Amino acid sequence: MAKDKKVEQITDMEVDFAQWYTDVCRKAELVEYASVKGFTILRPYGYAIWENIQHIMDGEFKKTGHENVAMPVLIPESLLKKEGELVNGFAPEVAWVTMGGSEKLEERLAFRPTSETMFCDHWSNVLQTYRQLPMLYNQWCSVIRWEKTTRPFLRSREFWWQEGHTIHETAEEAQAETEQQLNCYADFFENVLAIPVVPGRKTDKEKFAGAEATYTVECMMKDHKALQGATSHYFGDKFSRAYNVTFTGRDNKLQYPFQTSWGSTTRMIGAVIMTHGDNNGLVLPPKIAPVQVMILPVAQHKPGVLEAAAKLRERLVNAGFRVKVDDSDNSVGWKCAEYEMKGVPLRVECGPRDLENDQCVLVRRTDREKVVVKLEDLETAVKEQLELVQQGMYDRARKNLEEHIYAAHSLEEAKELQEKNGGFIKTMWCGSEECELKMKEVAGMSSRCIPFKQEHLGDTCACCGKPASKMIYWGIAY
Ligand SMILES: [Zn+2]
Repeated sequence: MAKDKKVEQITDMEVDFAQWYTDVCRKAELVEYASVKGFTILRPYGYAIWENIQHIMDGEFKKTGHENVAMPVLIPESLLKKEGELVNGFAPEVAWVTMGGSEKLEERLAFRPTSETMFCDHWSNVLQTYRQLPMLYNQWCSVIRWEKTTRPFLRSREFWWQEGHTIHETAEEAQAETEQQLNCYADFFENVLAIPVVPGRKTDKEKFAGAEATYTVECMMKDHKALQGATSHYFGDKFSRAYNVTFTGRDNKLQYPFQTSWGSTTRMIGAVIMTHGDNNGLVLPPKIAPVQVMILPVAQHKPGVLEAAAKLRERLVNAGFRVKVDDSDNSVGWKCAEYEMKGVPLRVECGPRDLENDQCVLVRRTDREKVVVKLEDLETAVKEQLELVQQGMYDRARKNLEEHIYAAHSLEEAKELQEKNGGFIKTMWCGSEECELKMKEVAGMSSRCIPFKQEHLGDTCACCGKPASKMIYWGIAY
């Protein structure tokens, strides 16, 4: 049988959300499994989304003075072990290189699970005076964490990310950096990915290994499960001390700098799929869509149609949009289904009758709404429609988030609400880890964050009844 390319059916998300997710990842041609177990291949369409994310985010980092660097992919075991908490936190997931060619290495080398140690080691060599501070570094790379169960974008043994690492003269400056980068992520999620977030602080139990404080942006997926979007960490001078990173201060004395790190990964693509996707496939925010506008010539064998389509494309490219024409001999019906599957935000249909009337038809991916547009207004209309799509996606996701946050005052109530509705359950919390463990045991939820925007829901901890002053969000997380 010939291998005709078909737009295949995907599982409905209401039937099996996990299967729907995997179907979208593969049928929209974002990823494919590799022969190495637990590893995935980012295919051109998936990688193009990542490139758009990188491009916009990198620009934001640079606006605040960050510079990109490239660190080695391998870390000597002795170096990794200098900071106890970090190594203990990552030990179960580290992959090791033990051979170089045919010779056994004298010391094992870890494939980086994260690069704090490499940056500290480098800084201990190059930092001398307060005049060199702050050092604001970032790198785009992949890391390896030997996860037991894997899912495309959400958990894989190798994933792509950016990791920012900075050192500062004072604790206040480092804390301000931690906060600034968290805000940068929050803005990126909301304005670029069209995903509303709950920003807040992680509990000590959930914070990054070795950090003094971890801040997070938490998102809610369409199935009302939680997803940690990106994190920003404040380390104090703990790592500087462990790795002997010092500088001569303004007082002419040797001092330890204060450090931060912050990261976001290809997981963001998973978040986009599960926040915006539907039963026809992927729905991409225009700002990161590899193709923002797909032009479909209708009755393309008729004279003038293909030429007109090419002209429309040229005009839109010149206006700065990412545009393609599909003039293949697949049917228009096939093409519509294919680009819906791929989440292209807007399609432009133009056939002989449209051209006679100097018009074309714009169709939005989000609601299939058709808008007839005069050809002379094409650029303005496309810009307007793409903005409407971006805003409409954000509004819908915001509604989903706001409608699935529930207040609870006891463990039982929290459990019931989670079982009935999913979503975030907010309660007062006394601050103890035992209560977090209890919540996990009884209701299957982990703490997501202590939101910056606090509410007073009562005076006692929902888990133990002791006095509590903090409100916390719980959820079942990816
Ligand atoms: Zn408690």
